[in-house]
Amino acid sequence: MSGRGGAPADGVEADDPFELAYAAGVREEEPVAAPAPRPRRAAAAPFALHGCVLTPDRAIEGGYVVVAGAAIAEVRERAPEGVGRIVETGGIILPGLIDLHGHPEYNVFAAWEPPRRYANRYQWRRSKEYARVVREPWRALTAEGSLPPLLTRYAEARALVGGVTAIQGASGRYPGKEEALVRNVDLRIFGEHRARSIIDLGRSDEAERARLRRHLAAGTVTALYVHLAEGVDETSRKEFDDLVGAGLLTPATVIIHGTALGEPELGAVRDAGAKLVWSPQSNLRLYGRTTAAARALALGIPVGLGADWLPSGSPSLLAELKVARRALAAQGLAIEPRRLVAMITRDAARIAGLEAALGTLDAGRPADLLVLERRRDDPWESVADADPSWVELVTIGGDLAYGRRDWVAALAAPGSSEAPPEEVLAWGKPMALDTGYAARPGRDTAPPRLSDLRAALIARYAQTGPIFA
Ligand SMILES: [Zn+2]
Repeated sequence: MSGRGGAPADGVEADDPFELAYAAGVREEEPVAAPAPRPRRAAAAPFALHGCVLTPDRAIEGGYVVVAGAAIAEVRERAPEGVGRIVETGGIILPGLIDLHGHPEYNVFAAWEPPRRYANRYQWRRSKEYARVVREPWRALTAEGSLPPLLTRYAEARALVGGVTAIQGASGRYPGKEEALVRNVDLRIFGEHRARSIIDLGRSDEAERARLRRHLAAGTVTALYVHLAEGVDETSRKEFDDLVGAGLLTPATVIIHGTALGEPELGAVRDAGAKLVWSPQSNLRLYGRTTAAARALALGIPVGLGADWLPSGSPSLLAELKVARRALAAQGLAIEPRRLVAMITRDAARIAGLEAALGTLDAGRPADLLVLERRRDDPWESVADADPSWVELVTIGGDLAYGRRDWVAALAAPGSSEAPPEEVLAWGKPMALDTGYAARPGRDTAPPRLSDLRAALIARYAQTGPIFA
């Protein structure tokens, strides 16, 4: 590839996972049959969750969310009538969390403590240590063809048990024909594929750029995720000039990282109506510095969060939320927890161009819900303090995707799934995980259970990053 735009991708090996993800990420998805419709493990009948409801535009103490089939039937302040099952959650009910940046296929590696700080992403991708920590294990894991889709499945399980119902970053090698455990905002979602992701803008050629411009102008692409300016030097900053020069700084553009962006660049992002996705943990570990997110927020730029990947990022979006809060405080912004919650729900849905369906609890929307234990008087503060062990229930399109075994047993329609939910112990809590989604419908005889998947991964890579630890 030409390496135009001045990005120093030279020296990065052709089989680097990032390179492969790039090669597939901007590819046009071939038309595929729609996956089997959710919900797989529907509740037996309409049910209601009772607790503190964060819509998240307001908090309703003692509120109810009524779920019927795949959708939210009602959000109300008083007990609904004619609903047989009401779960007294004693907790907080909010929209499923949206993680706007990650690399799911690589979320199986152990955390990496880089030996030094880097100036840009190309430096560590070329380093010997990165090869040892990521590239070589990745080769071992992908040496046999059947495993790659399962790498993503492992990351999906990790997201789900952390309260996340939608993720970003699955490469084009994981196309719409796979049936995901959580939603993929940049793959096929709600029957459409209106997002594209670019990992290395500097390696895109003019034909690709022209194609993206056409899609953006026609409105057939409504979210363009671009890994950009990840680093702290001029090389990183210049990627922004390349983006502008390519005519790709648009209202649909979602800049991932933007670590090197200064005041003029952030002003241009705001003026263009573009958005930002922030992964402070990964930035701080690799570069010792992170994006000027407080300034971006002050400018009115929509900011979402992404846990990035295990080697340098956070093990969960809830963990990333705490890093974000600390980083904002260091930048002089004591952010309100209510605003933090919006960043991973309502604002994230807007950034993804999916605000009509996700990020807000309201009648008629898909029932993508999260119930968290409540351990603080202030419900927003309780969410900001939560970790994945506080997760009580996650539904996706009404599917009982993950939850307390007693609740799932009480709500599940008998015989609604081919296999019973997998029993897992999540930080000591007995939980049920619906791994009944075929990773490759029509090809696999049975979808992999998490325990089997984990055993298969560990057989090839003993340091596989744990999920419940
Ligand atoms: Zn990334």
